[in-house]
Amino acid sequence: MKKVFFCALLTAVLCSVCAASEEEVFTLNRQRMVEKQIERRGITDKRVLDAMRKVKRHLFVAAYLRNAAYEDRPLPIGRGQTISQPYIVAYMTQAARIGQNDRILEIGTGSGYQAVVLAEIAKEVYTIEILQPLADSARLRLEGMGYKNIKVKLGDGYKGWREYAPFDVIIVTAAPSEIPEELASQLKIGGRMVVPIGSFYQELYLITRTESGFKKEALLPVVFVPMIHPSGEDE
Ligand code: SAH
Repeated sequence: MKKVFFCALLTAVLCSVCAASEEEVFTLNRQRMVEKQIERRGITDKRVLDAMRKVKRHLFVAAYLRNAAYEDRPLPIGRGQTISQPYIVAYMTQAARIGQNDRILEIGTGSGYQAVVLAEIAKEVYTIEILQPLADSARLRLEGMGYKNIKVKLGDGYKGWREYAPFDVIIVTAAPSEIPEELASQLKIGGRMVVPIGSFYQELYLITRTESGFKKEALLPVVFVPMIHPSGEDE
């Protein structure tokens, strides 16, 4: 009996030591990711860098992918979708010039990772996902993490979220073939939209709503999954 108790105790102690050191490795890898993949490539906004240092990307992917969570690439999240490369998440977040009182709309919740990075910086984040299994699991994950300033909706991102419009910032994380007009109309004057536009290869654009219309600047060539039409077709 004593032996069994001792073995159980030893296992419990060893497991907690392993778990602690695994967390430490993830933390170290995350700090390295920010330094090598993000700061070195020119991202300078301190709030973006702090959020990327803080948010645990390994908690947004399946267990078998956790050890790859801090690599310089997108990762699969199921249903043919991907969580973007960390640099692209940081780049889009910086490009949107987010203020701490901003209200943000994200299209393409996916794993919820980009939404959490945004929620660390802004006041409120509204995020829309068209695929039910992804919307459900992201909602559970974000609630479990205790984020009270993120709302997830299952629906078609092309329609935006009129109820909470207008937004200071809209971040689109799947690619439409042209600027979705309904989304642009849900931007405040002075509001910014960061969106990849195109078919297989795309260009990332910063669209700014002005008093008289929209200013459109090309930022960077990118590859995103295509935005899905509710009829089931890709762009
Ligand atoms: N931002 C996500 C990654 C996005 S991948 C993250 O941080 O993990 C692109 C996501 O957009 C996918 O989950 C895909 O299902 C979703 N999507 C594609 N078309 C959409 C549409 N019309 N409306 C809302 N979401 C859409």
